[in-house]
Amino acid sequence: MKLLFMGPPGAGKGTQAKIICDDYKIPQISTGEILRAAVKNGTELGRQAQEFMNAGKLVPDEVVIGIVRERIKEPDASNGYILDGFPRTIEQARALDSMLEEMGQQLDVALNLDVPDEELIKRLLDRAQKDGRKDDTEPVIKNRLKVYNDQTHPLIEYYSKSGLLRSINGLGSMEEITARIRTTLKEVES
Ligand code: ADP
Repeated sequence: MKLLFMGPPGAGKGTQAKIICDDYKIPQISTGEILRAAVKNGTELGRQAQEFMNAGKLVPDEVVIGIVRERIKEPDASNGYILDGFPRTIEQARALDSMLEEMGQQLDVALNLDVPDEELIKRLLDRAQKDGRKDDTEPVIKNRLKVYNDQTHPLIEYYSKSGLLRSINGLGSMEEITARIRTTLKEVES
């Protein structure tokens, strides 16, 4: 199963992606987590990414495209994977299409978690208090939502045109949303 999770910041992509990866025994490839680890470890990649992340901006396309290109070639990804938080721009989506073509692979589905803005702000501020992530302050959150609306939201149309898009209502309990995703994936598989 090769799938990607789209959705605004705070939609619950990461949490749901973990659960679904466990179901299918496939790795979760989260560009956000890879970048945060790089920042923490003080690597060259982290140095390049840090300022963008702290400002709630997107890390440049060529940087994240390079990360994903390497990661999906790893042996543990041969049976499938979940891309969590990638692609986030049309440019990244095009790059992904050509990587997959080169590798003779195809995506099974692009899942979009749908959550209204008011709820997102509430959840992100809540997470800020609990986890203390540097990019979870109110002005940065607002910027991340704007970046999402401007640059990532157009992907919904992109994947709708290619017939891969499935939208999931992201309001409700974590368990309810997991159940909706599982139902959708069963439909995709059959
Ligand atoms: P969110 O909860 O906002 O969805 P992520 O953990 O996916 O958070 O990403 C955190 C930050 O990492 C983003 O705001 C951005 O700066 C950077 N980032 C992650 N994935 C990408 C990507 N595909 N393209 C550009 N920047 C990215």
